[in-house]
Amino acid sequence: MLQSLKEIDFAVFSAIEKEKIRQKEQIELIASENFVSSAVLEAVGSVLTNKYAEGYPRRRYYGGCENVDVIEQLAIDRAKQLFGAEHVNVQPHSGSQANSAVYTAVLKPGDKILTLSLENGGHLTHGHPKNTSGMLYKVIHYNVSVATGRIDYDQMKLLAKAEHPKLITIGASAYSRAIDFKLVSEIAHSQGALVLADIAHIAGLVATGLHQSPVPYCEFVTTTTHKTLRGPRGGMIMCKEEFAKAIDSAVFPGTQGGPLMHVIAGKAVCFLEALRPEFKQYQNQIIKNAAILAEQMIANGYHIVTGGTDNHLMLVDLRTVHESLTGKDAEVALENANITVNRNVIPNETRSPLLASGLRLGTPAVTTRGMKEKEMVQIAEFIKVVLSNPNDKSTISDIKHKVVDLCAKFPLPCQ
Ligand SMILES: *Cc1c(COP(=O)(O)O)cnc(C)c1O
Repeated sequence: MLQSLKEIDFAVFSAIEKEKIRQKEQIELIASENFVSSAVLEAVGSVLTNKYAEGYPRRRYYGGCENVDVIEQLAIDRAKQLFGAEHVNVQPHSGSQANSAVYTAVLKPGDKILTLSLENGGHLTHGHPKNTSGMLYKVIHYNVSVATGRIDYDQMKLLAKAEHPKLITIGASAYSRAIDFKLVSEIAHSQGALVLADIAHIAGLVATGLHQSPVPYCEFVTTTTHKTLRGPRGGMIMCKEEFAKAIDSAVFPGTQGGPLMHVIAGKAVCFLEALRPEFKQYQNQIIKNAAILAEQMIANGYHIVTGGTDNHLMLVDLRTVHESLTGKDAEVALENANITVNRNVIPNETRSPLLASGLRLGTPAVTTRGMKEKEMVQIAEFIKVVLSNPNDKSTISDIKHKVVDLCAKFPLPCQ
């Protein structure tokens, strides 16, 4: 007898149903989130979750892999086409796992890495002391410039010369400007260092040619598949052919066991979708929406770190308008009005990371719903009203109703 989730486990079923409503009725501005297509959702929710497939296509440690081999090979071939990469590994379970595999492939404990710190817009896996990247390797950080908020390539160059790191990482989670991967690779190669470009956030822009690609310049390129790329939650590594073997064995058996074949199927579907012309239009609209949102926030008096955005996100410094409002309180007030954002530290932060003085806003998810410039102007207005009255219940409830009404006009692709 087939039993539904609802019959077997009502607690989990009803939490999922509530989550569907939450996603539907809120404005999602978390820059790292998105909504997958129903095709991706179908692949990820498939029977492939039943299959063990340790190893790689046609070189597996388990029988019965003929179908999953087809799927993983499709994912690899499509990713190669999408990014022009020489070698691709689609098995990393997440962006963090992808980075950890690259480190495992080329570094020994105690080796030196030069990276952008989390506080400057980087990522935990770029040498944070509480991440294995910070525990196993000797970490040196370059920063963003205090004056401009932009990555300080001159400092990177000086540190590369002085410290001789084995690997330089470049990539960010909260940085709104275009990154010069070519320049980073020139700096690294002049000092004999390798480069890991982490495009977790901007992969969709890179895939469609709307951001300079690191693939021709950098030995290793890692990404997530669930941010601007709009695929399932997961990671991927691209590399030059000479590192193919080292990368593959660093993923399996180096740092992972069996691949998640249902997620790899979702990645294959995501790459197919990303190869279509509509995907470039989508990425273009993400950028346009972010530019308008930033422009409106600035018009409302907020300072945007670096003064604006070239990509899908922006870092708002709240202090210019609301001196005493923390990022945490702003996040909570907006959540009460069904606008979902995350607080973020800003360069030269004066508060603790738990409170923070900034908000990170991104447009990939609202753009997936079909929102355009007109809605961005409305959203900026909602944010201003909420943050000016963070404790006023009737104002918050008024905006919440407006948000729900707006969302009703822009259905999700996957419900
Ligand atoms: C999101 C992100 C990651 C990690 O992705 P997870 O899938 O959450 O592990 C790595 N690097 C950067 C720059 C990111 O923004």
